[in-house]
Amino acid sequence: MTISRADCLALDADDPLRRFRDEFVLPDGTVYLVGNSLGALSRTAAAATARVVAEEWGGQLVGGWNASGWFDLPLTTGDRLAPLIGAGPGQVVVGDTTSIAIVKAVSAALRLRPERRVIVSDTANFPTDRYVVQGLVGSLGGYEIRDIDGPDALDAALSDDVACVLLSEVDYRTGARLDTAEVTARVRGAGALMIWDLCHSAGAYQVDVAEADFAVGCTYKYLNGGPGAPAFLYANPRHHADAESILTGWHGHAAPFAFEPAYRPAEGVRRFSVGTPHVLSFAPLNASLDIWERVDMAQVRAKSVALTSLFIDLVEESCAPYGLELVSPRDPERRGSQVSFRHPDGYPVMRALIDRGVHGDFRAPDLLRFGFAPLYIGFADVHDAATALAEVLGKELWRDERYRRRLAVT
Ligand SMILES: *Cc1c(COP(=O)(O)O)cnc(C)c1O
Repeated sequence: MTISRADCLALDADDPLRRFRDEFVLPDGTVYLVGNSLGALSRTAAAATARVVAEEWGGQLVGGWNASGWFDLPLTTGDRLAPLIGAGPGQVVVGDTTSIAIVKAVSAALRLRPERRVIVSDTANFPTDRYVVQGLVGSLGGYEIRDIDGPDALDAALSDDVACVLLSEVDYRTGARLDTAEVTARVRGAGALMIWDLCHSAGAYQVDVAEADFAVGCTYKYLNGGPGAPAFLYANPRHHADAESILTGWHGHAAPFAFEPAYRPAEGVRRFSVGTPHVLSFAPLNASLDIWERVDMAQVRAKSVALTSLFIDLVEESCAPYGLELVSPRDPERRGSQVSFRHPDGYPVMRALIDRGVHGDFRAPDLLRFGFAPLYIGFADVHDAATALAEVLGKELWRDERYRRRLAVT
């Protein structure tokens, strides 16, 4: 390969983010390129969680709601997360899942545009994004989903009956990244509301929600909040007085402990809280946010571009004869922190690769996905991953029968 492993180790030695790698637990002999699916465990998460369990739950019991600020966790954690997506204090609430956050954002958008009956969604949107909108439309009645095939079809879809548009900034399959400011301006120019799914953006680089109406995302991918960590929802302040989601739970009530018979929304973004927050799940997320507070996002983006570009170069150089096709945009500006290749035997190829310690994942029907979390992935990891992939393909190690049987989670 044109760049040697020693060159990569030199790049790692010069990397200003290098020190963060030691703040994560990564098993020996593993190159973990799945931080875009489940981020790595931070070193402080276990103790932080044990402390919440033993001291707060064990020591304070129900008093923890006041004494340890459990009741406000969705907002206090939202304020900590907000800078990562370009939002301000009081604009982000954390809780539930991304699927549920989409229900909240879309239902609120529909109520803000009552005379418009169309929701524009992309066929490339993550399936749950599509499913929950289908469920919402099915139960509300009188609404229509207009599916587009890619952002180029957006303008033609933006008629004056469109209430809102739901898109992902980064495509979970290809890693292609949209220009959110430009798309948001087009959507708002057509009188519709813009809802962004930031699942593959938050923590991959500095996001800017800017003029967006709503944004949602998960915290267990690049943000390292842990499996099942709560999602976030951003609501632009211009909607704080009027937006109401369909999920009018007591934690979004103006006076939850007045136990009034009728729902009244809380002031501000708190109205998007639904029920009791998953207190224990906030502990590892807040431990991870302690790290994020010290991270320079410009360095994260620069390293992410360097890692993904190097991986593309090395794989194309060493795997050229083996039928891999780059699916991610070649222009780093148009790419998130992920690289995807297509291979007709993608599933057994990925299984064989994982057996050699290089963890990516597979997305049907034929995509090999590799996520590059800049806080803990280095240049030597990229070299090792490309070398292992070339070996799996060159020696046809993937033809082994045991790699063909599909596991439940891919
Ligand atoms: C990961 C992901 C989700 C996950 O939603 P959950 O409700 O947390 O399971 C949703 N949308 C996108 C785009 C994702 O990448």
